[in-house]
Amino acid sequence: MTQNQSLVAAGPPAGARIAVDDPATGAVVGEVPDTSAEEVARAVERARRAQRGWAGLDTRVRAGFLARGRRWLLAHREEVADRIVEENGKAREDAIVEIVYCAAAFSYWAKRARGLLAPAKVRSLSPFVLGRSMYTRRVPRGVVGVIGPWNNPLLNSFGDAVPALAAGNAVVLKPSEQTPLTALLMERMARECDWPEGVFQVVTGAGATGRAVVDTVDFVMFTGSTRTGRQVAARAGERLIPCSLELGGKDALVVLADAALERAVNVTIQGALSNGGQMCTSVERVYVEAPVYDAYLTLLRERFQQVTSGRPAGLGSVDVGAVTFPPQLAVMEDHVEDAVRKGARVLAGGRASAGPGRFFEPTLLVDVDHTMKCMREETFGPTLPVMKVADAEEALRLVNDSRYGLQASIIGSDMKRARRLAERFEAGCVTINDAQTNYMALGLPMGGWKESGLGVRHGAEGFLKYTRLQAVSANRFPMRRDMHMIPYEPSAYRFLLRLVDVMYGRGLRGRAD
Ligand code: NAD
Repeated sequence: MTQNQSLVAAGPPAGARIAVDDPATGAVVGEVPDTSAEEVARAVERARRAQRGWAGLDTRVRAGFLARGRRWLLAHREEVADRIVEENGKAREDAIVEIVYCAAAFSYWAKRARGLLAPAKVRSLSPFVLGRSMYTRRVPRGVVGVIGPWNNPLLNSFGDAVPALAAGNAVVLKPSEQTPLTALLMERMARECDWPEGVFQVVTGAGATGRAVVDTVDFVMFTGSTRTGRQVAARAGERLIPCSLELGGKDALVVLADAALERAVNVTIQGALSNGGQMCTSVERVYVEAPVYDAYLTLLRERFQQVTSGRPAGLGSVDVGAVTFPPQLAVMEDHVEDAVRKGARVLAGGRASAGPGRFFEPTLLVDVDHTMKCMREETFGPTLPVMKVADAEEALRLVNDSRYGLQASIIGSDMKRARRLAERFEAGCVTINDAQTNYMALGLPMGGWKESGLGVRHGAEGFLKYTRLQAVSANRFPMRRDMHMIPYEPSAYRFLLRLVDVMYGRGLRGRAD
């Protein structure tokens, strides 16, 4: 083992701290503990004890706690928005969206939990189980570890804790080391709303703290890069615990020849530049059918030049804020330089802006192709490459020419044609005449295909993953013996075969078991 490996395995030394900076100014705005593996294990132990009582509460009582959390969030929305903007550097409008999402999540999961957790009857026509009463029931997994990224400090961290809690789990949340302050505010929410102690805890720290979470919890809800997602899945596999992975993307948008161009341009700009382009579901490549390419591009370029960027302050101050994670600036520069070297043209922006904060100009690239990194690798910034295609079939081939498959969008007027095309995209989510808004529909599952993830958040599937399934079968009228019991009686099997002939032999009844 090298010295480096042993340091990683040991994790942070006791009492270590992590400084948090404001990406828009570079100023240090906070400091949080770099939680050790031992402290994580203690937090999970506390959570485990608290979870038993929490799971025993009626769903209506848990809903009451979530309602208090919702009211707290709305009462403290200015403070929460300040904190998100300060540690992430995003426009205030984008921070508000996170708060609205979480208020809705509190309300939605509190209401839906009861129905989703209700036992479900199962019927069977099998002669072996005649007269049995059978049902499935849902049992919370225990302690759920939620590990989040830095691009949405509230929505992609606490937002995923809400359904886990509603399902009767305790949650230990490990926010990104870049943006841990918002999560700590939510820990304060839990205290001030008198949530049972230990039911929701935050452990701050970097990768080693995240690994310690994966090492100790019963289920991992991970949002982050594909690279880290693989490590989480590997460790979860060793421990034989389930995990849900929401990973990177290279989302495409296709503009069809019959698209309403104003809508197409507005959706493109919102999809590419909201949150400074630092969204897993950011539109990162556009394919335009040849007949409308010039008109679309003229309008897009004009609008791109009107986008404001810089240090976020109050509402209306900027459209695009700062670059949250320092190494991302180099990725953006590399993707633009690589594209230009291979023949692309920059129609707007193209550079990092001068400090003290970290900013990248909203950047529009054309004459791009799939040999360029900007068309194949996740950029995660306010850059947008646009490519002309002969027709929708070429667009479809290029959309699917990706290792990612998170989301893909189409803008077009002929809904039938757009839907047929969208359904051929290799992506977990497809949207028509929209991009990203689907995330706000909590009943609609959201998850990636290919290297964009495993499992989903939202929808019944995104909630039920936080539960284990128990199948109960009860023989209400137990007889002395069943037809299929040792010692075997040949007459019983002759009867069984006659019965099977009637049920399945002639294919007349088509009855399903
Ligand atoms: P990251 O993978 O670097 O880190 C994510 C989290 O994992 C952080 O909290 C980090 O401390 C922790 N971590 C690091 N190593 C770990 C390990 N070995 N075990 C456990 N935890 C570990 O990702 P990031 O840079 O914070 O986030 C950006 C990425 O997240 C982008 O790729 C983006 O597309 C993706 N993302 C995906 C979604 C989605 O829903 N699919 C949403 C938001 C962001």
